[in-house]
This record gives sequence, C-alpha cells and structure tokens, in this order.
Amino acid sequence: MSTKIWDCVYQWLEFVQFRLLPPTCILCQRAGQNGRDLCHACELELPALAQPCPGCALPLPPGTGTVLCGQCLQGRTRVQTTVAACRYAEPVNQLITGFKYQRQLAAGRALTSLLADNIREHYRNRCLPQVLLPVPLHPQRLRERGYNQSLLIARDLSRALDIPLAADALQRQRMTSPQQGLSARERHRNLRNAFALAPHWQDECYQRVVLIDDVVTTMSTVNEIVRVLQDNKEQPLEIHLWCLARAWLDH
Ligand SMILES: [Zn+2]
Ligand SMILES: [Zn+2]
Repeated sequence: MSTKIWDCVYQWLEFVQFRLLPPTCILCQRAGQNGRDLCHACELELPALAQPCPGCALPLPPGTGTVLCGQCLQGRTRVQTTVAACRYAEPVNQLITGFKYQRQLAAGRALTSLLADNIREHYRNRCLPQVLLPVPLHPQRLRERGYNQSLLIARDLSRALDIPLAADALQRQRMTSPQQGLSARERHRNLRNAFALAPHWQDECYQRVVLIDDVVTTMSTVNEIVRVLQDNKEQPLEIHLWCLARAWLDH
C-alpha cells in the first residue's frame, strides 16, 4: 500500500479506534483508564526503569547516590538528556514489535502516552525542546512497512505536549541492515553516513531539538544523527532523546 493511502487509512483507524471506541487494555482486554488503552493493573506490571540516569536513561547503579552514570560523567553520551517510557523487556518488547511490524497502533499509542507522562515529569523544572525530529526510515523500508513508527510516536507527542514536529528534517540516504543482533561496533559501522539533513532544515535556528525513536539500545543511531545535526550548525545545538523503551546489550 502506498504511504499516502496508508496515511489516510491510519487517520481513519485512529479516529475509530481512539475517539469512538472506549479505551481497552491492550494486554488483558479489560477497560482502560485515563483514556489510555491500558488498565491500572497492567500498567503497574510494565517494566519500569528504576532510577534512570537523566543523561542516557540507563539505570543508575543502586545505592551510589550519583546524579549521572559513569558514561555520562565521562562525556560519552552525546545527547543532553534522555527520557524513555519503559525498560525494553516483556511485555514491552512484544508490544513494540506489534506496533512496528504488525500495525498494532494501539500498542504504540499506549506506550507513547506513558512516555508523555514521563516527559512532563522530567521537564517540570527545565525547558522542553522546541521541535520534534523522528528518526527516519529509508524510503524503501517505508514503502514496505507503510508507516514510520517514530513519526507516529512523534505525532502523538506533538499533540500531547504542543511542540511542533519536523517530520522530514532528517532523511535516510542509505539502506542499512537491521541493528538487531549486531554488536556495538557493528552497529556503529552499519550506520555510517546513513542520515542527512534536508536542505530546507539547514537554515533553521532552533537551540533545543529532540530525537524520537522507538527503542534505543547502544545510541549508535542517535550518535550518528547527532553528528549530522551538529555538523550543520555553527552554534552548538542541544539535542534531547525520547524513546518508548530503553534497552542495553548484555556483556
Ligand atoms: Zn490490563
Ligand atoms: Zn547516563
């Protein structure tokens, strides 16, 4: 299905699913709560990030009382701050797979709504970013899948938080293999020169932007985009990161 037709279908499905039908829990099919397709019990069961590092959202070592993790203290995290809705574990991993590959839009929408709550909390005493930049899909992959899950997340967040969305500022100029199953070094190599900035974006003068992705594991994608964004700016740009789930590789 072409992306244009899919866009119309998505908007229609969205209207029926999210405006007309009462919220239903995506995990147990009981009534949802707070206008969200999750019930209270299932929401409490979702894998939370215990004490996430404000820099990269990885859990801080328990009992150390540090403000940032070792990686962030050493300046190895290239984004200013990271917010995630959940830890990438059961059942969130299955929900995201359904959202990404099987058009289970309600799963994406419910997790995005949790992410919006975490963002409001995280930014209580600091300025929100000025524009949302979804991580792009390569046009060929977009044609196969019909939609970019990061753009759907960004659309919901744009509405919920009243922040403009720059849907096509970032472009994917090279097809890459899926990152899943690759080591950190392979992921980095896989993404080299994969992204570019749209010409019309290069003159934009934002100070704070936020990247939107579904799952963040090694930050390879994010770091590559940060490099592209900073390359084109004379003034340093503050780049934030928001994602549905934070994962990490076991060593
Ligand atoms: Zn439930
Ligand atoms: Zn950190």
